[in-house]
Amino acid sequence: MREDLTMVNDPAQAAQVLRTMALDEGLKARIPGDPVLGPLARKVAGRYVAGDTVDDALPRVAGILARGHRANAEYLGESCRDAERAVRETDVFVDLARRLPPGCSVSLDLSHIGLAISADLALENGARIAEATAATGREMIISAEGSERTDAVLAVHRRLGERFDHVGVTVQARLHRTAEDLAGLLALPGRIRLVKGAFLEPETIAYARGDRSLADAYLRGAQVLAESGHLCSFATHDWDLIHAVDALLGAPSADAPWEFETLLGLGPDRIAAMAERGHPTREYAVFGTEWWLYVCNRLAEDPNRLFQALVDAAD
Ligand SMILES: Cc1cc2nc3c(=O)[nH]c(=O)nc-3n(C[C@H](O)[C@H](O)[C@H](O)COP(=O)(O)OP(=O)(O)OC[C@H]3O[C@@H](n4cnc5c(N)ncnc54)[C@H](O)[C@@H]3O)c2cc1C
Repeated sequence: MREDLTMVNDPAQAAQVLRTMALDEGLKARIPGDPVLGPLARKVAGRYVAGDTVDDALPRVAGILARGHRANAEYLGESCRDAERAVRETDVFVDLARRLPPGCSVSLDLSHIGLAISADLALENGARIAEATAATGREMIISAEGSERTDAVLAVHRRLGERFDHVGVTVQARLHRTAEDLAGLLALPGRIRLVKGAFLEPETIAYARGDRSLADAYLRGAQVLAESGHLCSFATHDWDLIHAVDALLGAPSADAPWEFETLLGLGPDRIAAMAERGHPTREYAVFGTEWWLYVCNRLAEDPNRLFQALVDAAD
C-alpha cells in the first residue's frame, strides 16, 4: 500500500486509494492496532469520530449542544451477520438512547442490528431502539445503505412507522428511485434525511458523483421536502447546495420542520453559518471501534481533508 500512496499525484487517485484502503480487511485489522501507525490513524480519526464508547461520545455530544446545534449520535457498525451480536449491538443503542441529553437523535444502519440476517430480526431490534428513544423523547433515524438493501430498509422503516411516529429514514439523492420513494415516505411520520449517497452504484440506477445531475436531483428532493412541511434534514457539506437550499426555504425559523445537518468535524462552518441565518442545525457524531471504513470514505470525499489528515497526524 505504501508503494501505491507514493505514486499518487492527483486528488482523484488519492481518493481511489483511500476507497480501496477502506475496504481492505487486512489493513482494517492491522493499522488501528499497529504500535506506530495505530496512534497516527487514531489522531486522524479523532476529528471525525467521537471515541470508542457511549461514555466517550457523551462529552462530544455535549460540545455540539453547547455550540447551539442539535446533536445526533450513531454507534458505528454495519453488515452484522451474527444474530446474538446484533442483539448486543442493539443493547448499545438502547443504552445510548437512555443516556443522551434532550435535543439529540439516534441514527443507525439496520444491517448493524440484524438486516443482513433477516428483516424480522432488524424489525425486532429496531423496535427496541424505537421504544427506548420514544421513552426519552428522542428521534430515531434509519440510515441509507447500498441500493441492494434499499427495498429492505424502506420496508422495515414502513413497519416501524406504523407503530411509532418518531422513526425517520435517510434517502439518497443519487439513486434514480428516490423521487418515487420520497412520495411514499411523505405519507409516513418521522424525519426524512436527504443525502447525496455514499455508495458506489452503477450509472444505470444512480447519478455519478460530481455530476451536475446529482446536485439537480438533490435540489428537486429538497424542494419536495420544503413544500411538504414534513420533518426533514438537509444533510450535506456541499456549500453550493447548502446555499441553494437556503434560498429555496424562504424565511429561516427556529421552529421550522427542516434542519441543516453535517457530520462531526466535516462542516462546522456550514452549520454555524446556517444557525447564524436562523435555521435549525444538527451535527451528527459517530462513535465506536468500527471507524476504519467510515474515516477512509470521508477522507476520500474531499481532497482538502487529505491535507487536514496530514496536519492532524503530525500534531
Ligand atoms: C448528516 C449526514 C448523514 C448521512 N447519512 C448517510 C447515509 O445514511 N447513507 C449514505 O449513503 N450517506 C450518508 N451520508 C453521506 C452522504 O451521502 C455523502 O456521501 C457525503 O455527505 C458527501 O456528500 P456531500 O453532500 O457532503 O458533498 P461532497 O460532494 O462531498 O462535497 C462537499 C464539499 O467537498 C468539496 N469537494 C468534493 N469533491 C471535491 C473535489 N473533487 N475537489 C475539490 N473539492 C471537492 C467541495 O468543497 C464540496 O463543497 C450522510 C451525510 C450527512 C451529512
